[in-house]
Amino acid sequence: MKALLGGKGANLAEMTRIGLPVPPGFTISTEVCTYFYDNKKTYPKDLQPQIKAGVVHLEKILGKKLGDLNKPLLVSVRSGARDSMPGMMDTILNLGLNDQTVQALAKASNNERFAWDCYRRFVQMYGDVVMGVQKRADEHLDPFEEVIENLKVERFQGDKHMVDTAMDADALKELVKRFKALIKARTGEEFPSDPRKQLEGAIGAVFGSWMNDRAIVYRRKYGIPHEWGTAVNVQAMVYGNTGEESGSGVAFTRDPASGERVFYGEFLLNAQGEDVVAGIRTPMPVAKLNDYMPKAFKVLESIRKTLESHFKDVQDFEFTIEAGEVFMLQTRNGKRTGLAALRFAVEMEKEKLIDWQTAVKRVPAEQLDQVLAPIFDRKAIKNAKLIAKGLPAGPGAACGKIYFSGDRAVEAAHKGEKVLLVRMETSPEDLRGMIAAVGILTARGGVSSHAALVARQMGKVCVCGVSAVQIDYEKRTLTVGENFFKQGDYLSIDGTSGEVYAGEVKTAASEVVEVLVEKSLDPAKSVTYQNFKKLMDWCAKATRLQVRTNADNPVQTANAVAFGASGIGLCRTEHMFFEGNRIDAMREMILAESTEDRKKALAKVLPYQREDFIGMFKELKGLPATIRFLDPPLHEFLPQSKEQQMDLSKKLGIPVERIMARVAELHEFNPMLGFRGCRLGIVFSEISEMQARAVFEAAAEVQKKGMKVKPEIMIPLIGFKRELDLQVAVVHTVAQEVMKEKKVKLAYMVGTMIEVPRGALTADEIAQTAQFFSFGTNDLTQMTLGMSRDDSGSFLPKYQELDIIKRNVFATIDQAGVGQLIKIAVEKARSTRPDIKLGICGEHGGDPESVKFCHRAGLTYVSCSPFRVPVARLAAAQAAIDDIAKPAAKKPLAKKTASRKK
Ligand code: ADP
Ligand code: MG
Ligand code: MG
Repeated sequence: MKALLGGKGANLAEMTRIGLPVPPGFTISTEVCTYFYDNKKTYPKDLQPQIKAGVVHLEKILGKKLGDLNKPLLVSVRSGARDSMPGMMDTILNLGLNDQTVQALAKASNNERFAWDCYRRFVQMYGDVVMGVQKRADEHLDPFEEVIENLKVERFQGDKHMVDTAMDADALKELVKRFKALIKARTGEEFPSDPRKQLEGAIGAVFGSWMNDRAIVYRRKYGIPHEWGTAVNVQAMVYGNTGEESGSGVAFTRDPASGERVFYGEFLLNAQGEDVVAGIRTPMPVAKLNDYMPKAFKVLESIRKTLESHFKDVQDFEFTIEAGEVFMLQTRNGKRTGLAALRFAVEMEKEKLIDWQTAVKRVPAEQLDQVLAPIFDRKAIKNAKLIAKGLPAGPGAACGKIYFSGDRAVEAAHKGEKVLLVRMETSPEDLRGMIAAVGILTARGGVSSHAALVARQMGKVCVCGVSAVQIDYEKRTLTVGENFFKQGDYLSIDGTSGEVYAGEVKTAASEVVEVLVEKSLDPAKSVTYQNFKKLMDWCAKATRLQVRTNADNPVQTANAVAFGASGIGLCRTEHMFFEGNRIDAMREMILAESTEDRKKALAKVLPYQREDFIGMFKELKGLPATIRFLDPPLHEFLPQSKEQQMDLSKKLGIPVERIMARVAELHEFNPMLGFRGCRLGIVFSEISEMQARAVFEAAAEVQKKGMKVKPEIMIPLIGFKRELDLQVAVVHTVAQEVMKEKKVKLAYMVGTMIEVPRGALTADEIAQTAQFFSFGTNDLTQMTLGMSRDDSGSFLPKYQELDIIKRNVFATIDQAGVGQLIKIAVEKARSTRPDIKLGICGEHGGDPESVKFCHRAGLTYVSCSPFRVPVARLAAAQAAIDDIAKPAAKKPLAKKTASRKK
């Protein structure tokens, strides 16, 4: 239904079906939008008659008529894509008004002010959305808003900030006149008075807005295909602006920021819906409605329950109260922060609204990151200077330099600054700036303003409606009382409490991190941690794919294990050489002129490596560790500047000329395709010998203390089986020696990384020697696409803009290309060695979409950085649950191969 009617249309129909009060209307399907763009912006032939029939039907139900001089029918024209796109599309209210029907409306309602308020809103919206009268680049104010301000100044003692509701009917009449003149002056066209023409224009504008800039930007960010199109909803108007017994609001069935089970939202008296969302007047919390209209409040409370028990998810809904009567205008699954998503899922399972599998799927893997996001350091915040308080709209702590425009925020972020975007209120034009910022602060608007909605979805920290701040866009300054800040000054905001602090406030770890990593918080005292644990327990129950971690030292290992990693998937041994003085021993080794000297230098490196391995093995407590042998080109270890070379020369007592000569010798034109990976160990086998010895001696020592140890030695960059054979032989020889020396028996495996396309294509041969594979998807992507990750910045963004590639291939696996090589390698490897262990390491291991791909490809594990482990575990569990849901469509490759063998 959603695909055809759009989210809004489908849910309006659904609410009507279950008996909720929805004004009647009809929906023009998304197919029309697709047709519109496929056919040079024309409509299917049968559309016009169907619209006519739809209008006639409405007229019958309501006993009103479009354009009628006694009882005019007014409608809203609303866009609605399949997935809601907040603020992307434009809605037109009160359509059907003209100089005659406005009189009729005034008479019928016995409320002249109300009728003209509707009319001026209609002319304003229609002029903007359909006729294109909008703010020009050189203007500070929306032209309609400017007309309003001027009129207020003229008629109401120069008070341009007076609320709109204080304008009387005469003023509103004058506004309509001036709006029409403005439209005429800007477009050369008259404002259309024929309601049917108005309707035609409005429908065209909604379809047109599908391809406007900000809609395209939004779809690109969230990966929504352009082909989906939007639907158009035409719906009879209800009026929240008839006076103080009417109003309009937006509410959530639970708190979308904290996740707490409370009725959450806000409303404005005497207002049409756009006023609440636009953030121009700051609304009242929905609980206050009980003071003004207790009856309507009761109705809403009961609707709140009905919605949750019907849709089985937290709803974000829009309502209007006309003369005490409640109408529902929209409902959808509420956008939420990661924190709230977690709490909703766990609590709704407890309330038996959903089962645990659904609960697991309800938390977007990407959003789980927010649960681990930093908060302000408790001590630092005590000493910080609180300057103002606003509404908590997007949780977390953020601190950055303030910028007052989206463009300047983007610019500063590109320069590497941490940016806080500060606006009176945000609009979709600010989207780019919001993406670039770490946090957002607005002076106006409530918790369901544009800024709040978008921030929560992006997981940005956001504080809204900080009414005490004064912003001067021209001077680029912000003033709060006697405190004064200019562009580039630091501010800190807490999106959980709504507090705003002067300057830079230190941030601290989240509760989950405090419990698991810092061990400074009692788990029983943290609801968030308990919810997190529940979710992770469910994940463990559901998952097939394991999650390991990329770690090179004991601390990282401990963190990852605390997050539930099932071992180390990639230990980059070269990282161990960079710390402190170790690098010197390594350099000595590289500068050595004979095998003898090299062995001597390597002997100095050995104890360091052994110590690190001992530390990691202890933290792993029997979990496996994949240890990769030296991978980068040797030149990366040598100093490149003359000054550093002189230093090294003094330190090692080697003439600087010799160092320079060696650096020159090791220089490569294309080092990533050069002397690196297993090629190093093949030419200098003593390097591999040393590394193997460090691993086995460490293993022997830890094992003697009664702990299990499972080393898995991984040889990088294999393209030929014989490369691996040679290196494996070295490893086995050293293993035998160490076992004899230490009088222990060690269990270990030797395998390889598949990162050279030739390796993937000859995986059946390589698997004769390799006991496991780990797909090194960073290099595999570089080599398959012939694109260097480090140099692709100059063209990759353009490639994404032009849709040559949909996602950054270095973040999300290119499934059609690189993914195919992985599948080929998996199949070939299993044909030789059915029980081969298969994993991936590389950046992709922490990307939810790539994790799901790995599940479907039948891999054994993914490996990612310690703090991404929970995200990957969640994605893996979700993939497994999807599998059970549709077993026929998505059989893991593992099973397929196995059954073929039988
Ligand atoms: P958006 O997608 O930007 O939320 P909507 O189509 O939901 O746009 O319209 C915005 C607001 O206009 C709604 O919140 C609602 O309050 C108001 N609105 C839309 N249709 C009607 C209607 N038929 N009667 C009264 N108000 C309406
Ligand atoms: Mg809108
Ligand atoms: Mg809406």
